[in-house]
Amino acid sequence: MTTSPLPERFRRQAVSPEEALGRVLARVRPLETETVPLFEAWRRRLAEPVAAPHPFPPFRRSAMDGYAVRAADLPAEGSSGEALLQVLESLPAGAVPRFVVGPGQASRIMTGAMLPEGADTVVMLEMTETVVRAGADCVRIRKHVPKGRNVADVGSEVAAGVRLFGESRLIGAGETALLASLGMAGVPVVRRPRVGVLATGSELLEAAEPLAPGRIRNSNAPMLAALLREAGAEPVLYGRAADRPEEAEAMIRRGLAECDLLLTTGGVSVGDRDILVDILAGWEGETLFNKVTMRPGSPTTAAVLDGKLLLALSGNPGACFVGFQLFAVPALRTMLRHPMPERAAIQARLAEAFPKVNAYSRYVRSRLEVREGTVWVRPAGDDFSSLMTTIAEADSLVVLPPLKEGLEQGALVTVIPLAEGMFGS
Ligand code: AMP
Ligand code: MG
Repeated sequence: MTTSPLPERFRRQAVSPEEALGRVLARVRPLETETVPLFEAWRRRLAEPVAAPHPFPPFRRSAMDGYAVRAADLPAEGSSGEALLQVLESLPAGAVPRFVVGPGQASRIMTGAMLPEGADTVVMLEMTETVVRAGADCVRIRKHVPKGRNVADVGSEVAAGVRLFGESRLIGAGETALLASLGMAGVPVVRRPRVGVLATGSELLEAAEPLAPGRIRNSNAPMLAALLREAGAEPVLYGRAADRPEEAEAMIRRGLAECDLLLTTGGVSVGDRDILVDILAGWEGETLFNKVTMRPGSPTTAAVLDGKLLLALSGNPGACFVGFQLFAVPALRTMLRHPMPERAAIQARLAEAFPKVNAYSRYVRSRLEVREGTVWVRPAGDDFSSLMTTIAEADSLVVLPPLKEGLEQGALVTVIPLAEGMFGS
């Protein structure tokens, strides 16, 4: 009796998710720096540390509407005396004082205005009374106010030269405000990775097309474009390729040439029309892996052509999503000089039993909840790789090692939070 050898496509060498990630990360490099206008720096990452070029505030200014005075002129603490001071001028924000405040004198001052020389304290308006004495404007103050009150000294918030942000800091609203205050109209940021997205499958229609028998709409490409934006990359859309290897290969070569990274979806399983398998078998590129011991997404494949990485994700939406999270996100973080390429994990308790057993690691789309100080995690519906609805519910992935038995409710499991900033991810 003879047995025919298994076709090449079925004989795949499976690698662990960790090994696969290591192979991916070895093939990506941090991207270069570019300078963008401050208004476009939101959600970008700083390419260099930022030090304050000047102190802030840059001059001694008032924190209140009131009177700039010399504290020595005011009633002493606990005394019932009063000060009657001659008012020299009125200082709105932006004005430069003309007079030095001498003994027995004060200047009216508004919030944000420069303090006149001689003055060391601002008395808030509500504690003062204006009076006219011998035709001159005066102010009466009946309370003690400690020296320095309501005065923001030069550099009291940011001293000159102080390091404000380290490299790779994500620029949000607060960072933007500080950069603007310090005159950084152009911000050095890490260039966004340009990432091509190509969906393969003759069954695919675009969202705008009417349904037709046997066809489904391409949801992976728009999903990946959204995930790429969330990860700080710039998606480049190549549409869809029918299951014809020559046509798809030409599009893949173009995408790799034009982008920093190319994502494809579909065509990596072992079906008759799984064209990525044929393309990778026939071209000069190097396959990094074509099978990973994980569910969903075991046929996830990675290859390199002319130094550019191709991540060929599974066509099943759930598997495509998980493959993106596990491999594309760390690759993008490396490109973006993110301090943590690999995703941080936390421990949480299973909110419901998980009955499935598996020879492979499993990444279950799930949702985190905090109850009575404990973090719980709930699998988001059925965990089939084809399901899309669970992606919309998921804010995390439960990481389950290969299991011989199911897990009980309350079991402690490892979870990867997916939202940026969530639990320090
Ligand atoms: P494949 O990996 O090409 O065998 O596809 C696996 C399953 O995912 C099939 O049911 C496909 O119809 C489906 N699929 C493939 N590509 C997409 C896509 N871009 N959007 C939604 N579903 C897809
Ligand atoms: Mg297909």
